[in-house]
Amino acid sequence: MDERLIPVFDEVVTRNPGETEFHQAVREVLESLGPVVTKHPQYTDAAVIRRLCEPERQIIFRVPWTDDTGRVQLNRGFRVEFNSALGPYKGGLRFHPSVYLGIVKFLGFEQIFKNSLSGLPIGGGKGGSDFDPKGRSDAEVMRFCQSFMTELYRHLGEHTDVPAGDIGVGQRELGYLFGQYKRITNRYESGVLTGKGLSWGGSQVRTEATGYGTVFFVDEMLRHTGDSLDGKRVVVSGSGNVAIYAIEKLHELGARVVACSDSGGYVVDEDGIDLDLLKEIKNAQRGRVADYAARRGDAHYVAGGSIWQVPCEIALPCATQNELDGTHAKVLVENGCQIVAEGANMPTTPEAIRFLRDAGVRFAPGKAVNAGGVATSALEMQQNASRDSWTFEHTEARLAEIMRSIHDSALETADEYDVPGDYVAGANIAGFTRVADAMLALGLV
Ligand code: GLU
Repeated sequence: MDERLIPVFDEVVTRNPGETEFHQAVREVLESLGPVVTKHPQYTDAAVIRRLCEPERQIIFRVPWTDDTGRVQLNRGFRVEFNSALGPYKGGLRFHPSVYLGIVKFLGFEQIFKNSLSGLPIGGGKGGSDFDPKGRSDAEVMRFCQSFMTELYRHLGEHTDVPAGDIGVGQRELGYLFGQYKRITNRYESGVLTGKGLSWGGSQVRTEATGYGTVFFVDEMLRHTGDSLDGKRVVVSGSGNVAIYAIEKLHELGARVVACSDSGGYVVDEDGIDLDLLKEIKNAQRGRVADYAARRGDAHYVAGGSIWQVPCEIALPCATQNELDGTHAKVLVENGCQIVAEGANMPTTPEAIRFLRDAGVRFAPGKAVNAGGVATSALEMQQNASRDSWTFEHTEARLAEIMRSIHDSALETADEYDVPGDYVAGANIAGFTRVADAMLALGLV
């Protein structure tokens, strides 16, 4: 890290004790910004980087609800409104027992740069709760969402803060959240949430967008070296929304996905994952990949263990933060992996990233690769604002165009700062400069 940025990083660690994922996300960005502060001293003079590391507002609240036995349950809710220089705070809500302030802040911090990189008018924020939806009935999930929104609604608005989904928050949860927002405010304010259902203000392609966008990005990486996805052997970790639609687009473009996973283990299917079966098990039955293996003859399931043992040319971590560490990276390299692209947020540890890059593996970071989800959320906001709804084809074409432009802007920025081919530095610098210029223009706020 550039020595001028070390005090900024030290300050972040001191001010935010124990928030290790947040420290990790900040470090990754600051490590790219050395050449930027040399070229543009105005950012340091106006303390832009220090200000970027401090959220504009952090909200923490109590979420009481009753379970199906009538017992009172208690969770903690968060919304970190990180930066609004480019537009209203925008970013998802995550419901998972691992959620605490450090996770929400790492996600919110990454979201600033991701959203900036998309070129669309959206600021950065993130929220969630340590609520665990696993094993809860629909009625319990609804009561939780209603209680969560009963506090959160006062902080939201289509021009203020616009949440969406993330891990544990899909269309079911967004429906309950939107219903409660509408009831409390007496406003059908479509633009206050994205990821909505198609019959109540949602956009075509939003469900598929993060996974599809991830694959469009990888397709651009390959195209850049005169290669293509056709015939490539791919491993996709996870089996949630991002993984499912990444697999769908990979198969459409001629690649073969031979493994996917969940928190219990992974499944290897040499014939290529049967997506209809996976969707039925994961979406309709809320089941596990072990159930997939049980119903699919030649596939085999490995409980526990690491999916990165499975040989592949392209690895797409699409599950969760820090799922791919140094040991996994070593195995991937030994097995001849050539590209790692992050469909999830920060799934690769810093040690693994270093190892992959030293070994000549092309690595692309989540803020660029998985930006298609939030970009399509911004397209949903555009449609809501004009009371319009676009076709699937038109929306998908817009998404593909945005992913191409993110890819090119990361590579062009890497060239401009003399780190050719470095997608991490390119994405961090391109994302940073757009938001930093807006912050300078808006004065000291
Ligand atoms: N949670 C997604 C992300 O990590 C989507 C956010 C959104 O659509 O606002 O970018």
